[in-house]
Amino acid sequence: MSGIDALIRHLVATRTAPDAELLPLLDPDWLAAWPERRAAADAALMAAARAERRRVYGDTVFLRGLIEFTNYCSNDCYYCGIRASNRAAVRYRLDEAAILAAVETVVRAGLGTVVLQGGEDPLWTCGRLEALVREIRGAHPDLAITLSVGEHPAACYQALRAAGADRYLLREETADPRHYALLHPPHQQLATRLRALADLRAAGYQVGGGFMVGSPGQSPRELLADLRYLQQLRPEMIGIGPFLHHHETPFAAAPDGDLRLTLRLVALLRLLLPSALLPATTALATASEAGRVAGLNAGANVLMPNFTPPAVRADYSLYDNKSRADTIDADLAEIRRQVESAGCRIDFGRGDWRAAPEG
Ligand code: SF4
Repeated sequence: MSGIDALIRHLVATRTAPDAELLPLLDPDWLAAWPERRAAADAALMAAARAERRRVYGDTVFLRGLIEFTNYCSNDCYYCGIRASNRAAVRYRLDEAAILAAVETVVRAGLGTVVLQGGEDPLWTCGRLEALVREIRGAHPDLAITLSVGEHPAACYQALRAAGADRYLLREETADPRHYALLHPPHQQLATRLRALADLRAAGYQVGGGFMVGSPGQSPRELLADLRYLQQLRPEMIGIGPFLHHHETPFAAAPDGDLRLTLRLVALLRLLLPSALLPATTALATASEAGRVAGLNAGANVLMPNFTPPAVRADYSLYDNKSRADTIDADLAEIRRQVESAGCRIDFGRGDWRAAPEG
């Protein structure tokens, strides 16, 4: 294979590529390793990714109403601003009434999916989550309910699914065990996380995985392992974003991830897994004001406006300078503008995963 056009043709035809062809693309210093100019090659990758998105989903962008309902977490991921050991974090926990009110705001805005996201909060037990999901499902039979509440026993995942949850986001963050051990304390194990993803799949969820780009200790080899893992898991949703430091973590001084490399990975994932629902993540929007549009231009097709009540929104601080609009209306207006400027249109429906047509 020689050149980016041949590689793109190969990716589209086979949905994979040899390690030796992918590794240069995962190297921030790719310019030196590739015969064409990097910018031109990235433009070709992103045009191909947009064509694949169009083939599967049209130029539609799905909206997910995000509610960050608790920032208590018993885990201690070294990169995260709300890790248990961060005593400086201002903690909050929404109760059922506040969450249901936020869900109503999502529904009134016309969105077909709500995402309930939180840390692994010991007071939000499985039974309590189950009752909440059941109540939302009862009030809104057609609303897609996505959960993002971390690792739980398989029986809990099954109970939440039976209560009415449709989708579950659980990013593995890295698929390499040595790298996982660098980013997490010893009691958090990659094997446990991958087991949880398998349990979610077995419970019948649309599953979401994903990883950080540019996290400490990551090289092209780790990124390749991340792609290979996702090719094998075949999740319906994939969230990736640049690593962004938080000042109250062990990685406070670590450099942030490379935006251009992140966008290249979004495009590559669209080519490897054309049916994936790929968000232009908040981390992308934080890394650059133009991050959301750039993500859409790289083949992303999901945006997640934030419906967390304004009084606590700033406290869900996973990394520094997290992007956030002043009001939901302002965020939605900005999203409309961004989606249009990427040549796409908003679809307010549930936006479920769909199989790519043959060819
Ligand atoms: S990344 Fe998630 S699991 Fe890890 S400490 Fe932060 S909120 Fe908890």
